[in-house]
Amino acid sequence: TSFEQFDLNRQLLNAIADAGYTEPTPIQQKTIPLSLGNHDVLGIAQTGTGKTAAYLLPLLMKVKYAQSNNPRALILAPTRELVMQINEAISQLAKYTDLRHLALYGGLGPKTQIEMLRKGVDILVATPGRLMDLYRTGEIVMKEIRTLIIDEADKMMDMGFMPQIRSVLEVIPSKRQNMLFSATFGARVERLSGEFLEAPIRVEV
Ligand code: AMP
Repeated sequence: TSFEQFDLNRQLLNAIADAGYTEPTPIQQKTIPLSLGNHDVLGIAQTGTGKTAAYLLPLLMKVKYAQSNNPRALILAPTRELVMQINEAISQLAKYTDLRHLALYGGLGPKTQIEMLRKGVDILVATPGRLMDLYRTGEIVMKEIRTLIIDEADKMMDMGFMPQIRSVLEVIPSKRQNMLFSATFGARVERLSGEFLEAPIRVEV
């Protein structure tokens, strides 16, 4: 089995080769075809399984560059560290594409983030708090979001992000693809899945 079996383009396959990935991991094996087929995915996978590339590769395949200056994909994560890590994974996997991506998190002034938003962004990676702050000041247009990914959903619930996630769900289009990844699947993650995934296919490793 190799990455060539998936419907990914040459830019992505070359970046995968540069990253030194020779074979898809089990979570990638299961997630990539489902996501390319536009299914909602509920992924139960720990860090270290390759879950990030599992959701990023189909996303990078589907988001088209410069169709608009407003973001079409949104990835939510609980912490600044995880947001930065996901953003670095995008830099690596999207290196041969023209896709523009931006990490949004609190802790430092939003000036640079606002400048980047004004230039145009295709993919946003954000903590829910900073995302909604910038949305409320009118710096982010979310009406073109077609894909929503929530990573480390269990940690999001532990940190009390449910209200912010609900605010996000209220302002993005309802017609979209969703993916949720979590290391564990407890009652709160189950409730969150029920609120925003549509007929999800569950993948577990
Ligand atoms: P993650 O579970 O997404 O945090 O990924 C864990 C680590 O595995 C990261 O350092 C990735 O760069 C790496 N990785 C992801 N997919 C593969 C793959 N197919 N082959 C080898 N390493 C991978």
